Order: sequence, then C-alpha cells, then structure tokens
Amino acid sequence: MKISEMFNNGRPVFSFEVFPPKRTSPIESIYEVLDELGQLKPDFISVTYGAAGNVANTDTIDICAGIKEKYGIESMAHLTCVHATKESVDIILDDLRKRNVNNILALRGDIVEGLEPQKDFLHASDLTSYIKSKGDFGVSGACYPEVHMDAESMREDIANLKTKVEAGAEHLVSQLFFDNNCFYDFIEKVRIAGINVPVEAGIMPVTNKKQIERMVSMCGASLPAKFSKVMQRFENNPEALRDAGIAYAINQIVDLVANGVDGIHIYTMNNPYIARKISEGVKNVIGHDI
Ligand code: FAD
Repeated sequence: MKISEMFNNGRPVFSFEVFPPKRTSPIESIYEVLDELGQLKPDFISVTYGAAGNVANTDTIDICAGIKEKYGIESMAHLTCVHATKESVDIILDDLRKRNVNNILALRGDIVEGLEPQKDFLHASDLTSYIKSKGDFGVSGACYPEVHMDAESMREDIANLKTKVEAGAEHLVSQLFFDNNCFYDFIEKVRIAGINVPVEAGIMPVTNKKQIERMVSMCGASLPAKFSKVMQRFENNPEALRDAGIAYAINQIVDLVANGVDGIHIYTMNNPYIARKISEGVKNVIGHDI
C-alpha cells in the first residue's frame, strides 16, 4: 500500500523510524527490535539509509522487505542521492521492486567529509522525479519546521519544498522539533504555499543525557524553556530522565492530535521500550488499536 493512501482512515497515521544495526553488530539484531515494534502495529516503519553508503544499501532494503514479510507491516526505505549516480539508483530501485518494497523516502542526504558529491542529483526533488519516472513507487520527502540549515529563509525552503512535492512527493515527514508552535506556524505557511500533501510530525523522545547534548549541537531545534527545565532537572537521574522524556513526547503528541495533525512519526532510536510506552500512552488519543 502507498503511504499516502493511509491518510484517509479518519485518524492520524502512526509510524516508526528504525536504523540498520552498526557494521559491528549482526543484521539479525534488528529483528529483536522489530519483534517488539511489530506488536505495536504501527501503520508503517521506515528504515534509514547511510548518506555515503557507510551502511550497506542492502541492509536498508533487507530490513524493509523483512518488515513486510515477517510482520505484515508496510515499510518505507530511505534513499539518499548526494553521493549517488543514476546507475547506482537504478540498481537500488530494481532491488526494491524485486523485494516488493514500494515506498521510498527520497532524500538529498548530507555531503560526507572526504567524499566528492556526484552530479546526477543535486536536490531531493531531482531524485523524487527520477524515481517517479522509473515505476510505481510511493515517494515521500523530508521537511523542516524550523528551516533546513542550508536554506536562506523559511520562504525559500518552502518554495523548494513545493518543487519537491510537484516533482512527485506525496507525503512529508518532518524533522524533529520540541516546540509544537514551530510546527503549527510551519504547517500554516506550507498550506498557504499550496502544498496539500499530508505532513507527519517527527517526534524524538529525548531520554538520555548524551542525546540532549547531540540535539543541542546538531539539529538546531528550538528548546522551549519547559523542555530545558525538565532536561536540566533530571539529567543526572537516568530513570527520571527517561520517564520525563517519554512524558514530554506524549504531551507533544496529545497537543498535535488535538490540533489536527495528519500523522505522528516516532524516531524510535531502535528502542522498543520507549516506543511501547509512547504507543500505550497515546493509543486512545490516536485511535490506534495496539
Ligand atoms: P532537499 O529537499 O534537497 O533540501 C536540502 C536543501 O536544499 C534545503 O535547504 C532546500 O531548501 C534546498 N533545496 C531543495 N531543492 C532546491 C532547489 N531545487 N534549488 C535550490 N535549493 C534547493 N539523512 C541520511 O543520510 N539518511 C537518512 O536515512 C535520513 N533520513 C531522514 C529522515 C527525515 C524525516 C529527515 C527530516 C531527514 C533525514 N535525513 C537523512 C537527513 C537529510 O538527508 C538532511 O537533512 C539533508 O541535509 C537534506 O535532505 P533533504 O532530502 O531534505 O534535501
């Protein structure tokens, strides 16, 4: 089923993101995570992809195929293009087709230090139209409620997002955010710009100190005072911090659903305990049958 078709069922779509295990762990280790995530019956699970192929392409495809075959859950393969050529994308699309994986999150990816970018795809929109020309894939795209770091302004970023949707992106997943007002402002601008595809809100439960530090340094998400106070108060108490991070994510979701969000995409960080706590906490809010 195409992911864009899931938004007609009268409730927000509820989905998870996982990443392939590191090279030092066996690929099978992901199935311990998926066995548990599968019981939570998300509408779909997406699987990330290494920007430079530092995670083998086949891992993402294998895991996506496994999600469908083993659990009967729809999957979405992330695919980056900044270091890809048309030939390398063709091979991946063939593989995806053979393994019956027909939803792709088309991404530019970030340039990896020491690797020259290729010239075939400059933006995710180039990959999107290329995939669309190659068969009947459902294509999704990323969006940034607090502006992508390379964009000069929100206006420019949304104009580029519109190009991506016109190129064929039928559904968008947002970058994580901690201030729902940023998301609401963004959605208003997106709709005014004439972008009418469903937008899922990306929710990252922050449940350990290392994660907080990474968030602050890398993603540029605003940290509302409410969030910072919770994190500071519990940063040296791992159990309390985990509970507080889960509660914060649940609060975000309740507010988003009350405000009519199209869908919720949980960045699970391959942590089924946290995914379960959140799923149980919002199942009636979302109308999701676990
Ligand atoms: P684009 O849509 O190409 O946008 C990137 C920048 O280029 C923006 O500033 C945009 O305004 C600008 N732009 C776009 N089109 C044009 C145009 N036509 N002309 C001029 N400027 C333009 N990375 C990974 O490596 N692997 C993953 O699995 C992965 N998964 C992700 C999942 C989600 C939900 C999100 C939000 C991000 C993910 N990323 C992943 C990170 C992503 O690759 C980076 O954020 C990357 O910097 C941008 O990718 P994009 O697809 O949004 O790029």
